[in-house]
Formats: sequence, C-alpha cells, structure tokens
Amino acid sequence: MKYPIAKPILNGNERKYLIDAFDSTWISATGKYLNEIEKQFADYCGVSEAITCFNGTVALHLALMAIDLKPGDEVIMPAVTYIATANAVHYMGGVPVFVDVRPDTMNIDEKAIEAAITEKTKAIIVVHLYGHPCDMDPIMEIAKKHNLIVVEDAAEAHGATYFSQRTGEKVAQKVGSIGDIATFSFFGNKIITSGEGGMVTTNNKKYADSVRWLKNQGMDPQKRYWFPIIAYNYRMTNLQAAILLGQFENITWHLEQRRRIAERYIQNFKGHSAFIVPPEQANVKNSFWMFTILLGDAVMGHRDLVMQKLAEEGIETRPVFYPLTEMPPYFEADHLAKYPVSFKISYAGFNLPSSNNLTDEDIDFISEKVKQVVAGL
Ligand SMILES: *Cc1c(COP(=O)(O)O)cnc(C)c1O
Repeated sequence: MKYPIAKPILNGNERKYLIDAFDSTWISATGKYLNEIEKQFADYCGVSEAITCFNGTVALHLALMAIDLKPGDEVIMPAVTYIATANAVHYMGGVPVFVDVRPDTMNIDEKAIEAAITEKTKAIIVVHLYGHPCDMDPIMEIAKKHNLIVVEDAAEAHGATYFSQRTGEKVAQKVGSIGDIATFSFFGNKIITSGEGGMVTTNNKKYADSVRWLKNQGMDPQKRYWFPIIAYNYRMTNLQAAILLGQFENITWHLEQRRRIAERYIQNFKGHSAFIVPPEQANVKNSFWMFTILLGDAVMGHRDLVMQKLAEEGIETRPVFYPLTEMPPYFEADHLAKYPVSFKISYAGFNLPSSNNLTDEDIDFISEKVKQVVAGL
C-alpha cells in the first residue's frame, strides 16, 4: 500500500539508544532505559507510578489482577473497543458487561452506565477510543457513588487531556491519571511504539507494587528465587525500552503531527453531507490516534465497497471495531436492540491513513480519492 494506515516513524534517538543498549549487553529485562522510561512516563502522565510490561493486553491483565478482580465479578465496558479490553476480563474469570457508546465521541455512554450496574459490578473500564478522552467527571461520580474501581484503557490515547470540573475549577488531567489505574500500549501502530510494549500507570502504591510483583513471576522482593504466589513473566526488555525512550522524547512532535493530520482531514471533509468528522469536545484535548470518518446515512451501506476501492488506489483503511457482542466469544442475541449506536458507527465508520509522515499533499490526495469514490457510488 502506498499509504499504510499507521506506520512507525523512528526519527529521534531510537536507533542510538537501541545500539547503546545492545552494546552494553543489557538486552534483557533490566537496564537504564527501563528505569528512565518508567520515570519519565510517570512524570508526563502526572502519576506517581508507571510500570513497563510486554504489551497493552498484559498491562490490562496486570491492572485487573492488581485491583483483585475475582471470578464472577462484572466489569462494565463499551461495546465498541479492541478485543483485548474484554479478553483481559475473561482471563480473570470476570464477566464483561457491555454498554452502548455515544454517537459523537464513540466512547462509552456515561448516561447508560448506571443501568448496567448490579451487585456483582466491581469495575468500569473506560476506553479513550481513537484518542478522544471519555467524559470522566460523570464517570468518576458514578464510580464513587457505587464504590466501583475505574480502569482507563488508554492504549490509543497517549498524551490526551481531559479538563475536569469536579472541584469547581478547571483542572487539566492527562489520560492515565484520572481513574484508579490505567494501561497503555506501544504496539507498532500506536502513537508511540516500542514494537510490542505496554505500561501501567497509577497513583496507588499498593496497585503498583502488585503489578511489579505479578509481572516478575511473583518473586518475593525480599527473598530472591522465593515464589509465594503463581504469577507471570510479563516483563519488557531494555531493548524495547530504548526504542520507547527515543519515541517518548519526541511525543510532543508525534502528537502535533496527529493533530495536523486530523485538522487537515476535518477541513477537507467538513460540510459534506456524506461524511461525519470526529469531534473534539470542549473539555478535552484529543490525541487523534487514528483518523476516523463516518459515512452519512445515505451512503453508509457501501462502507466496505468504499474501503475496497480505496485499497485499489493504494490507500489502506480499517473498519471501526466491530461490536464485541457480534463476535463468538461475547455474542449476545439481542445486541442490535441493546447497542444500536455501536452497530451504527461500527458499520458506518473507517480509519484513514494516519502516519505521522503524511504530508499535507498526501492528505489532500487521500481526501480527494475518498470523495471521488463516494461520489461515484
Ligand atoms: C492496542 C490496544 C490494546 C492492546 O494493546 P497490545 O499492545 O496490542 O496488546 C488494548 N486496548 C485497546 C483499546 C487497544 O487499542
């Protein structure tokens, strides 16, 4: 594909640090790059603790272990997200309980959360989909009222900000610092990458200690090679951390490019009835991970054909995540009635190329092709 959906741009110190880690022979799960990225990422998010791990999926698994999710516990989450959000709950014997999403931000509909709470509900996982933060003030209020733990799946939203009004004053909060515990992914197509990689962030020392313990086979921190619990090897390597630190040093640049790309697409598609562009609500700063466009009612039935025709032009696209309740592991027979918005956006939307090296001319070319294909339907 001439225009891939999202390719890593490794234009900072990634190579230098990687070679340095290699030459130092600290290529395994200890080393200065691991220490450095944990420290800097915690500072950046505004939390006291950041813990590296192997990927975003195990970050979720570690977070759910840290909050002591028990078999049978219910966890509320949006019906539209990447499969890992639900799978991590399933690994714990927990039960994902799905809630419909909002038509504008595509995030969990906070107004629908309370109806999904039962005696078994333990936590809410919010997913800041495609980089737009969830509306966290009402969600944190609901969690407080019902004594629920809030886990943020921030895999797609590094650096996004929510402006909280909970205290009466406007307070900027980076995603990953708002709920009780949060997770990030550094997979190759994410805003910053280490190839495979993940992070857990929290201000809760107890959760952080659990995560550090559980990702390292449960080895007793006071007594080496003594294992009082069954745990996991979910460690990141110093090589991955070296790449990640190089990426992280340029995170402001990476986010600026995402914004430039999104703003140009929005300008190109705005005002056409066939297209709905993603919002940026007044109380957030979107990190615009992957640019998502929805087709208007008159043309949405042709979404797959549009994507196929764009592929023929060398433009890679990706459908919005399918509702999880449509797939065999989480199938629900009455899902169309229960999650109408999830179905609508899932079948109307697709992601456009969003790599940080796209030029304005590339974006204009892609936008023109999308318009041509839709006009020719
Ligand atoms: C990418 C992603 C994950 C999982 O991350 P991996 O690093 O691929 O395991 C989890 N949740 C969401 C919403 C994601 O987009």
